[in-house]
Amino acid sequence: MSLVVMRYHEITLKGGNRARFAAALADNVRRATADLPVERVADAHGRLVAELRDDARWPELRERLARVFGIANFSLARRLPVSIAAGGAAPDLRPLAEAVLELVAGRSFASFRVHTKRADKRFPRSSPEVSAELGAMLQQATGARVDLDHGELTVTLEVLPGEILYSAQKVAGAGGLPVGTSGHVVALLSGGIDSPVAAARMMRRGCRVTFVHFHSAPYLDRSSQQKAREIVRRLVAHQGDARLVLVPLGEAQRQIVTRVPPPPRVLLYRRMMLRIAGEIARRIGAEALVTGDSLGQVASQTLPNLVAVERAASLPVFRPLIGMDKLEVTDQARRLGTFEISIEPDQDCCSLFVPRHPATRARAASLEAAEATLGVAALVEEAIAGAVVERHRFPAGTREPEIEDLAGRGRRERGAAAPATHS
Ligand code: ATP
Ligand code: MG
Repeated sequence: MSLVVMRYHEITLKGGNRARFAAALADNVRRATADLPVERVADAHGRLVAELRDDARWPELRERLARVFGIANFSLARRLPVSIAAGGAAPDLRPLAEAVLELVAGRSFASFRVHTKRADKRFPRSSPEVSAELGAMLQQATGARVDLDHGELTVTLEVLPGEILYSAQKVAGAGGLPVGTSGHVVALLSGGIDSPVAAARMMRRGCRVTFVHFHSAPYLDRSSQQKAREIVRRLVAHQGDARLVLVPLGEAQRQIVTRVPPPPRVLLYRRMMLRIAGEIARRIGAEALVTGDSLGQVASQTLPNLVAVERAASLPVFRPLIGMDKLEVTDQARRLGTFEISIEPDQDCCSLFVPRHPATRARAASLEAAEATLGVAALVEEAIAGAVVERHRFPAGTREPEIEDLAGRGRRERGAAAPATHS
């Protein structure tokens, strides 16, 4: 039977937190692989080890694990039991050499190296000694050169109590920290290129992300909501499950438009978004907001405008892309698989009743003056009351998202009344 060894780097640095981080990572791996023949995901002395019951599923598993944040790299591996004789004599490594040769049979390589990591410090040989001894055996059997820097093949050995894990290929992981270990944030998700990247970067730092999308239905069509949904469907592969809150902004926009001249309207929309998202965050216990703003990228993202907009927020606003340029963001969006979705045309709520040349040097005071004539608190309440909460799961298979309320209570069908309860 094959094993999967998943190695983490950063979380080993976390001292006393390590066990908690490893447990969260193991949970995330279990969830991401729930429909694959993977069993007994557990921490084994600083790496996760799982059993794979059917090697034919490895390509699928590899795809899945490559998206789980917190994994630095991983390998398809096998295990060989070893026992240390009384008196501490070194075990005979010949069975291990044979097992490794069997593992790499069929692969051609002119050079190789052996990399050993000894988690069991009682093992009576140092890591370099094990590498050298096994390397000599492999060299003799294959005729390939040892090349410690550029070996075409790298054999990795992990010496654990009672067994050695061996593998001959490392797959790069997604890095970062396990989702859920850094707290909970609300990401403002438009249908654009930037905000999905911003949300993914927070996930990669261990945040659980709830998505909030603002739309202007029925004044505009539902295309932006469909894009937000598809983006969440893509990003949820990194998180296992995620909520998407679809919030109608049209009524607030209608009021803004009747009372405020065109130039600052977009900024007032943004301030409403931050207020509403902040209130949603408060109700679901999230601690911060995330946007895809990048300094100076468009008129609404000049420094004065970002400052004036943020004044309306009651929670910290994180902007992971603030110092990135569009090419860097686009590159990340492509790697995430959201770029192709984001570039589809849609009817974006920010384009409703706004001029081609919006204000670029707004001041919070003048925006506040404009808002004084709006019933801001009532508009926030109204928008939240009209919100639809979808829960997306990964792997979704053919499942449709479930509809919930903000408290996480399920509703059986879209639009159906909640089941009556009798006490
Ligand atoms: P994006 O590609 O993320 O839309 P952008 O460069 O187009 O970014 P803006 O449209 O100015 O920038 O939006 C800035 C940020 O405001 C977005 O990154 C997003 O976080 C938030 N935002 C904008 N529109 C919406 C929306 N309809 N729903 C939710 N959040 C939004
Ligand atoms: Mg946008």
